[in-house]
Amino acid sequence: MEGVRHLDQKHLVLQQYFGYTVFRGGQEELIDAQLVGRDVLGIMPTGGGKSLCYQIPALLSPGITLVISPLISLMKDQVMALKNAGVSAAFLNSSLTQEQMRKAMGNIRAGMYKIIYVAPERLETEGFVTLAQSLNISLVAVDEAHCISQWGQDFRPSYLKIVDFLDRLPQRPVVSAFTATATLQVQEDIRQMLKLRDPLCVVTGFDRPNLRFEVVRPSNKETTLLGLVTERKTKCGIVYCATRKAVESVCQDLQEKGIPATRYHAGLSDEERRQNQEDFLYDRSTVMVATNAFGMGIDKSNVGFVIHYNMPKSLEAYYQEAGRAGRDGEKADCILLYSPGDIQTARYLIQNSPDNEDLTPEQRELVRRQDLIRLNTMVRYCTTGGCLRGYILDYFGQPHEPRCGNCGNCLRELVEVDITRQAQMILSCVHRIRDHLGYAVGASLVAGVLVGSREKRLLELRLDRLSTYGLLKDTSRRQIRDMLECLESQGYLHTDPAYGSISLTAQAREVLFQGKTVCMPVWEQPREKTPVKPSAVLQTDQALYDVLRELRYRLAKTENVPAYIVFSNATLGDMAAKAPETMDEFLQVSGVGQQKASRYGKEFLEAIRQYKSEKT
Ligand code: ADP
Ligand code: ZN
Repeated sequence: MEGVRHLDQKHLVLQQYFGYTVFRGGQEELIDAQLVGRDVLGIMPTGGGKSLCYQIPALLSPGITLVISPLISLMKDQVMALKNAGVSAAFLNSSLTQEQMRKAMGNIRAGMYKIIYVAPERLETEGFVTLAQSLNISLVAVDEAHCISQWGQDFRPSYLKIVDFLDRLPQRPVVSAFTATATLQVQEDIRQMLKLRDPLCVVTGFDRPNLRFEVVRPSNKETTLLGLVTERKTKCGIVYCATRKAVESVCQDLQEKGIPATRYHAGLSDEERRQNQEDFLYDRSTVMVATNAFGMGIDKSNVGFVIHYNMPKSLEAYYQEAGRAGRDGEKADCILLYSPGDIQTARYLIQNSPDNEDLTPEQRELVRRQDLIRLNTMVRYCTTGGCLRGYILDYFGQPHEPRCGNCGNCLRELVEVDITRQAQMILSCVHRIRDHLGYAVGASLVAGVLVGSREKRLLELRLDRLSTYGLLKDTSRRQIRDMLECLESQGYLHTDPAYGSISLTAQAREVLFQGKTVCMPVWEQPREKTPVKPSAVLQTDQALYDVLRELRYRLAKTENVPAYIVFSNATLGDMAAKAPETMDEFLQVSGVGQQKASRYGKEFLEAIRQYKSEKT
């Protein structure tokens, strides 16, 4: 009975605390299941709205909800956002001093919090277990649940201890698990290792329609990057680089050009990392240049672009990092600057990554092998002429339209160019080299032979004696590499994932001996720049939006919270469009709940009134 009553209340809570009127895909089913006491497993993309899926049941359950999260910054952020929405919440993790920890534990004992975020390590400490045993815990929500899988990059041994913790509680609470990582293997791991009981499993779509994907092949990455960032001056963005060194130089370069950039990587002191991250969160620095060490758990919702200066190691990693753009639902750009040299860097990073001590040597080898296969998938994303969104969705096994109409490839025109003659030369060159040396070599040496390079290694191997030497001397190395990739994508060549060496497939015969035509898709007009499309906001009232943004900035500063904790960009956009005049109208704005309305309503309404009177 209790459950049924709650089902009606969930819309009320959604409106009152969070200021939204409708649930997003998957949210409602997941919430309902938890409210009637069933375990759940929710798989939703970044920005899909996982937090509400456990926060609403938390608010409607009699007891306390524990949220297990590995991400310190995320906890802080979520707690800040909850408090601002009028929910009593706290977090326990290593960032607290002993004194703060003692106080927080006391408050928990006194029943002051409805939702408590804890790091998984905490569940292993006796002090916390004893405390937990004395509490009425209704729900345990496991965030980033894929961390329990030993096969993923984010494996956390402490996640394996969650089950022990649950076993020690006097009564097993409802357990819910959430992640954005999709593969079936990981899903299965989560169910099994968390011992979920007949969980309702909801997998929502992975598409993020507001993200525009694009791959750019710049001849000069620095200038291209600068152009892309300058075009997006009014937005916040992240630039991901593969190495610390690249982070340093890119960040410096941007700063010298007057862009308020900051940096983040594992080589910086804790203090500097904390400071830089905060500068970015609070919009003091609008561009964060970082390695992939940055971002796990960064909940900043107003990231307008994510640019990858280097190609990441896998499509999962790419989608996760790029997915940090546009969490507020606004249009955002995900641009990857690709150069074939990135493949070598990525391969090197995979082959030299530190060994996971929890795995056997055979398992490690398997993991490495899988990493290299994932790398190939990533490379094909960079070189495909097809719809980029479609490519990603295929990978995650989700059906989709053939063309999305909102990615770099869909927005450009492709023309087919006949490259049969060059293809024959390239294939026969690959064959001759192999014949001559007795083993296969990588793309750069093949291209070197074809352009007739005098490089040392090539001469030492006497590859200049081959009949195919210098056959394509009027073609650039880059064009040759494009053709190599094209031949691979059409099944005539195969790159060994481990060594990068190229060999012919059986199918190559068709081109070499049977006169088969080879066509390569080429962009009609290769573009390096993308015009920034006006966001939905621009079509409403940009001037009012700017006024509201200014006010938000001031309020956030006074309260010492990031701007998006006050209101998200999406909320400001809706506010600018609706231009409310009364408190009732103000409450209609998406993202405005009771608490925020009473806290900020007066000032925003006043600003809108003033704006309107000046305009007329
Ligand atoms: P995730 O954890 O899945 O990456 P979040 O829980 O942080 O995503 O939610 C992303 C954004 O979407 C947040 O700004 C959140 O307030 C917003 N959001 C969540 N649910 C809804 C909803 N039903 N309607 C509108 N916005 C929502
Ligand atoms: Zn597309």
